[in-house]
Amino acid sequence: MTLSFKGHGSEGQTEATGLPRDLTRLVASAIDSASSELRRLNLEIWNNPEVRFKEERACKLLSEWFEAQGWTVKTGVYGIATAFEARFSVAPGERTVCYNAEYDALPELGHACGHNLIATSTIASAVGASAAMKELQIPGTVVVMGTPAEETGGGKYIMANHGAWKDCSVVLMTHAMPDFSTPRIVTKASWKFRAKFYGKAAHAAAAPWDGKNACDAIVMAYNGLGLLRQQIQKTESIQSVILEAGKAPNIIPDYAEGNFSLRAFDSPALERLRTRVIPIFEGAAAATGCTVELFWDALYEDVVTNLTLADRYTKYMINDLGLKRENILDPLDQSSKGNQNGSSDFGNCSYIQPGIQALFSINATDMPHTPSFQKAAGTDYAHEEALRAGKANALIGLDVLLDEEFYKQVKSEWVEAMKERGRAVEE
Ligand SMILES: [Zn+2]
Ligand SMILES: [Zn+2]
Repeated sequence: MTLSFKGHGSEGQTEATGLPRDLTRLVASAIDSASSELRRLNLEIWNNPEVRFKEERACKLLSEWFEAQGWTVKTGVYGIATAFEARFSVAPGERTVCYNAEYDALPELGHACGHNLIATSTIASAVGASAAMKELQIPGTVVVMGTPAEETGGGKYIMANHGAWKDCSVVLMTHAMPDFSTPRIVTKASWKFRAKFYGKAAHAAAAPWDGKNACDAIVMAYNGLGLLRQQIQKTESIQSVILEAGKAPNIIPDYAEGNFSLRAFDSPALERLRTRVIPIFEGAAAATGCTVELFWDALYEDVVTNLTLADRYTKYMINDLGLKRENILDPLDQSSKGNQNGSSDFGNCSYIQPGIQALFSINATDMPHTPSFQKAAGTDYAHEEALRAGKANALIGLDVLLDEEFYKQVKSEWVEAMKERGRAVEE
């Protein structure tokens, strides 16, 4: 559909990025007007860090705030008590734009990953997009998804398994970084699991032949993984810790347990690695006469960045939101800054719908998960940058609602990306 706006293409302006300049200004000024209110919410979260699945205060704060703005809010959604969903619409439309808000902190370190800023930028996007929808009666829906337990626990994995994001057209969010900005986060697919070996206890000196040694089994598995490590891709990694492997040397251990972590370039590569790892555990169990059980944690898929959305985000940043070209990395930049080795459960969203998780610099001197990043995440500077990122996401969200051709491009890029990864999706 098309809507017309006053001032479109007038006043001899340079060409607008996507939306007409009147509309980008309206969005930016709505967000700027809400800045001090958003700063209050930001600091409330930053000052009261809550770890995974315990984010009661942040969930209450944000869900009540959206309710007060007239949004339709539900808490305890998609399998998690501290998750929420807030929806806004002024007229029915075909497309739904989702913004994810994270708000979990790290044990001991507080908001050292800056998830208070993710919440802030997402609320900013919600404020900007809804102001434009109200003003121009733009059809469609904006959803804010409160997504707990990113650090560990795979909140979005759980929510996705309960049907979250199925009715969305795109999913957008941000993350703070120490000293660079880019619309494209590069993460690895990651899967942790626990192995439990069950053997048979026996007197180690009097009747060792009666025993089945679970300690031996886990050591064999540990060593098997070490040998496999020689034959895996440079982009893959395997980490292991043995947690328990017996109590006393005069008893054959009947139980052993360890935690293991696999990472790979993307989800299909991770699945291939997993199929090489499982027989190592089965083999170790068979060789020792033990049995083994593997308990798979939340899968963190790699983030598939939608370059059509990323490109539009960059253009808004440079043309409309005052960021200098040299201060935002090209989405295809392959420098070390552009290639992070961590994982994000946003990857799971990016396999359900097209999306981006844009990164913005907060001028921190150290990486996330450090005390200095925690400090930087509470500054005015970081707040302003969260708003700027939130503005860009508000604008690309409105592009999705308003511009059918643009959305078709976004969607077809994503369908291709999923086909390349062997995932069947609805076109
Ligand atoms: Zn983190
Ligand atoms: Zn984080």
